Order: sequence, then structure tokens, then C-alpha cells
Amino acid sequence: MSAPRFTTLGCRLNAYESAAMRELAEAAGLKDVQVVNTCAVTAEAVRKARKEIRRLKRERPDAPIIVTGCAAQTEPETFAAMPEVTRVVGNHEKMQPGTWQSLAPDMIGETEKVIVNDIMSVTETAGHMIDGFGARSRAYVQVQNGCDHRCTFCIIPFGRGNSRSVPAGVVVEQIKRLVDAGFGEVVLTGVDLTSWGADLPASPRFGDLVMRILKLVPDLPRLRISSIDSIEADENLMQAIATEARLMPHLHLSLQHGDDLILKRMKRRHLRDDAIRFTEEALKLRPDMTFGADIIAGFPTETEAQFENSLRLVDDCQLTWLHVFPYSPRQGTPAARMPQVDGAAIKSRAARLRAAGARRVEAHLAAQTGRDHSVLMETPQMGRTEQFAEVRLDTPQPEGAIISARVTGHDDTALTAQAA
Ligand code: SF4
Repeated sequence: MSAPRFTTLGCRLNAYESAAMRELAEAAGLKDVQVVNTCAVTAEAVRKARKEIRRLKRERPDAPIIVTGCAAQTEPETFAAMPEVTRVVGNHEKMQPGTWQSLAPDMIGETEKVIVNDIMSVTETAGHMIDGFGARSRAYVQVQNGCDHRCTFCIIPFGRGNSRSVPAGVVVEQIKRLVDAGFGEVVLTGVDLTSWGADLPASPRFGDLVMRILKLVPDLPRLRISSIDSIEADENLMQAIATEARLMPHLHLSLQHGDDLILKRMKRRHLRDDAIRFTEEALKLRPDMTFGADIIAGFPTETEAQFENSLRLVDDCQLTWLHVFPYSPRQGTPAARMPQVDGAAIKSRAARLRAAGARRVEAHLAAQTGRDHSVLMETPQMGRTEQFAEVRLDTPQPEGAIISARVTGHDDTALTAQAA
């Protein structure tokens, strides 16, 4: 009889939740089950989940399969119709101890195939405390869930519900536990991080949370932020960027596009110049800052000229770690009903954006040769700098250790370095 096996697709929030579900499932005595924590951000993500479910069933025909995550929440009937699937569990239900107790071998017979409720009616976050995260280097901590925005291309609010925050005290306790367990870095994660606090008494801002964590957990070596909507960055967050060395100089920005008319059609809250202004200010406050960003290629109605505004944004915002998403329509979103861009054009624009991103990565890596960096070891051979660059060490190092290393060179994707 083996422990429950988890397959996690999608974002860091899903990774955190899988760690929490593993503890709940084991506590409920589940054995020999496969849990697939799905993503619904694109139609391709849902297709991948179905393919993975069929593969797992072929691999272990006798093991029950429990499907959860955003795809299970947004289209439960799709998974309920699959003969390979035993139960479909919603995003709120997956974090409830009672759900896993009801899925125990002697109980599961009494449950419906679909255990998915209205996610829009959920007002609190789970705030489940985790003790571990598989590897001993980096741990993700959920501080917020859901989203109150309605970007026209996005299905996430329908999978995750409205925005809700984990109270600061709970977050600090969680991080203390992980630091005590030996984690060198914590990544704050959520769906729309900068909306943290809006639903809490006195409406604190995300920057207040960052400052509070760094103050109340002095032993935390490295704090990283997963992704932010730069237009919603508050004063205390900018203050932390300027003054807190333990806050990593790496921000992933949810920019999505570089053309103002397209940003309006996406129902984003910022314009091109806002993004440039934010990165310029952050770099003034923290010259070693690096930026990553999500950018969509081929959003409906996008012309060649509008696309070029996105392409130029890569340099104008000094973006290094680019995540390029070729647009794919999500049924039920307003953008899916807009005039679509030709598939070949989407593909070639995505390739041009990726090429621009690769050029920026090359420039960042090349500029590190001869410099000393603090590196968090993820495996005995590989670690990451504070700016999130991958580093391969010449000699094995303890996993989870933070070491000082001198960069000796690089290839297309990673630095090489000598431990000091
Ligand atoms: S901010 Fe927009 S893109 Fe992000 S989760 Fe919310 S609706 Fe989706």
C-alpha cells in the first residue's frame, strides 16, 4: 500500500495546495490513490490534464483517480465523463479535511462523483499550515486566493472565486514553521497578490505584509514574491524593495501586453507608460533588480503595429525572464467572442517575443561573469541567484544551503560558478 501520489499542473499556488492536500490525504488514511491538481488557464492546459489522467490510469489501472484544481472547478462535467476518473473535487473542497476523510476507502462509496460547489460563494481562505515541500530549498506560501478583476481573456476568477486574503498572523506563523524546518527561501504566492488585505480589517496593503514578515521572521534568509500587478504596487512595497536586502531583487510582472488599446480591450488596469515608469522606479530603488513578465501574443484584434509595441516593451521595461503565452480562446470569456488573429500570426509573434526574451537572458547571464552571487542550492549541483538565474556549481553543495559563489561563465540558460 503506497502513499497518495500527486500530479500538479499549473501555477505555484497549485504547488502549495498540493503540498497541503498531501498532508490532508495522508492524515485521512488514503492509500494507493492518484490525485491530479489541474490548471485551466488555457484550453491546452485542460487537454494536458485529460492526457495525464489517461496515462496514469494505464500505468496503475487499480488506483482510484481524484481530479481537482481549476479545470475540475470550471468544467467538472468534462472530468466526470471520463471513465478513468473516480471523483472530481472543487478548489474549495480540496482544502477541507472533511473532503479527504469522505474519500477514505471505507467512506468513498457514500460520496457523489462530483464534489464541486459554487466557488463564488467562498469568502475565506483555507490557511492550511504545511510542514514541508518535498525539496528543502524553496517553499511556496499562499497569502491570497481568487480575483476580483475580470480581464477579458481570463478564466481564473471562475476557477478560484473572488479575492480573499490569509490574515498576516497566519502567514507569519506559516513562514516561521518553514524557517524552523530549514527552508532558505519562501515565495509568497496567490492569484492577485497586490489585492492582499482589501478584505481584511483596516485594509492593509501587500507591502505592509511584506514588511511585517521581514520584521517578525528575522531568521528568514530570502523572501521572494511570485507575481504582481505593478499598477497596484503600494508605497510600503516600494520601501521594502529599496531597503530590505532579504527581499529578492526579482519581480515577475503581470503585464500581458505593450499596446494601450489592446490593454484596454483586455480590461487591464495599467497602460504602457505605467509599466515603464514602475520598472524605472524599481531599478532606481534597487539597481540589481531583474524583471520577469507574462505577455500574451496574438490577443484578438491585435495588429502588427500593436504587436510591435509589445515587442519593444521587452527592452523598454528591461524584462529578463519572459513568459510568452500564444493567445488561445477560453470559452466563456469575452475575448473568445472578439475577432481572432490568424493562428500562424499568433505562432510567429510568440516566437519573436521568445527570441527577444532569449536575447535579454543572454545579456543578463553574460553580465554576471566575474561577479560574486549568493546562491540557494536546489540540488547538490544546481542553485539560483537572488535574481533567479540558474547556476551550476563546479563542486557539489548541500541541498537547501545558501552559498557564496563566483561566476565563471554561462551557456544559453544558466551560469557556471565556483563555490567561494
Ligand atoms: S488579474 Fe486578470 S489575468 Fe489575473 S487572475 Fe485576475 S482576471 Fe485573471
